[in-house]
Amino acid sequence: MGLSGIEIFKKLPKKNCKECGVPTCLAFAMKLAQGKAELVECPYVSEEVMVELSEASAPPIRTVTIGVGENALKVGGETVMFRHDKTFVNPPGIAVLISDKMSEEEINQKIKQFNQIKFERVGLVLKPDLIAIKSETQNGDKYASLVRKIKDQTEAKIILISSQKEVMKAGLDCCQDKRPLLYVPTSNGVNEIAQLAKENNCPLAVKGSNLEELAETVDRLIKEGLKDLVIDSGARDIKQLLEDQIKIRRTALKTKFKPFGFPTITFPNEMTEDPMKEALYAAVMIAKYAGIIVLSDLEVYRIFPLLVQRLNLYTDPQRPMVMEPKIYEINEPNEKSPVIITTNFSLTYFIVSGEVEGSKIPTWLCIMDTEGLSTLTAWSAGKFVPDLIAVYLKKIGIGDKVSHRKVIIPGYLAQIKGELEDELKNEWEVIVGPREASDLPNFLQKIA
Ligand code: SF4
Repeated sequence: MGLSGIEIFKKLPKKNCKECGVPTCLAFAMKLAQGKAELVECPYVSEEVMVELSEASAPPIRTVTIGVGENALKVGGETVMFRHDKTFVNPPGIAVLISDKMSEEEINQKIKQFNQIKFERVGLVLKPDLIAIKSETQNGDKYASLVRKIKDQTEAKIILISSQKEVMKAGLDCCQDKRPLLYVPTSNGVNEIAQLAKENNCPLAVKGSNLEELAETVDRLIKEGLKDLVIDSGARDIKQLLEDQIKIRRTALKTKFKPFGFPTITFPNEMTEDPMKEALYAAVMIAKYAGIIVLSDLEVYRIFPLLVQRLNLYTDPQRPMVMEPKIYEINEPNEKSPVIITTNFSLTYFIVSGEVEGSKIPTWLCIMDTEGLSTLTAWSAGKFVPDLIAVYLKKIGIGDKVSHRKVIIPGYLAQIKGELEDELKNEWEVIVGPREASDLPNFLQKIA
């Protein structure tokens, strides 16, 4: 946010009517300044102020959307240099490059790889996002048929790469409805392709031979009315690229330098022939501000660590990942199946449910709302304690689903067994489970 809470407050209606969900206009202004509320939540802001504040409060790095609808990818929109200042907002899009010079077999293999790469972790699906389609033959028909094939066979967001307006247009005509990113790899052709991007409401990516040239090009494009831009400093040496990435982010944030207020696109695939180095460079770019990272392929052993790194860096460090509190049925439980209760910290859930699932023993897994805290932390914070657990077990009606009265608690909370039985009026036997989730299959086998 560009404005402080007080500066925003001066422009608010000052009715203190609470309709925005907070008690005062000042509190709302503070939330706005922290990016935790949106101006539309106040129904009394005039249109004039809305425009003024929206512009002033827009993130210093523009959010650019590639694709349309639910499947669209947003890049940019960042407001901080470091993740500990505030969360990073939009994870970088990961792309694989396919060229019209490749053999049919190689193209098919890359499309297959793109469609197959999908990992589930903590309830999220991790997968690559884009296919960058490069014209190397300069043959419009050939390029168009490749673009059509990729559009028909994948759900990938598309980056079209060409310096030739006619070739770019041939590709764009096949996927205009997907709002692709048009990337111009040389300074030739920028003006014509910029016109194409403008006419078709598509984002445009441009490359400089250095930061100065990039700034000049982007400045000119902004003056010509282009808004959705993605920028490439042109560096293909990791040291230079890292420096450029940091300079671009810092200049955009600290000095509000408009030409650098856009997400960046980087090409580890053009920086080395060594696949491991390519993955390493991509990892550096995930950490240091890339908006899009283009790779030469998606081999599992290299893409998986990158997807996990991206997930880890782009989760909000101040907000634990949580599961919905409810009863989860694992392996089709029946009235005789064991009952386990634990917290709604997503990692706890996935570790426990994974082990139970692997054991093949039908089980009822009760997940209680502890605001995302893990078992011991939740217990010490008073959120996973006998009286609350007893109330929760009753509330979710687990007693109606089973004919027995036995509930398994996490092994680290053995000390609450007696108290929980008291709270459950001795109608339930409380069994202390193993300390490590990996011991659950054996444990369940013994008691089942
Ligand atoms: Fe103030 Fe608007 Fe919130 Fe009412 S809805 S308290 S006027 S900010």
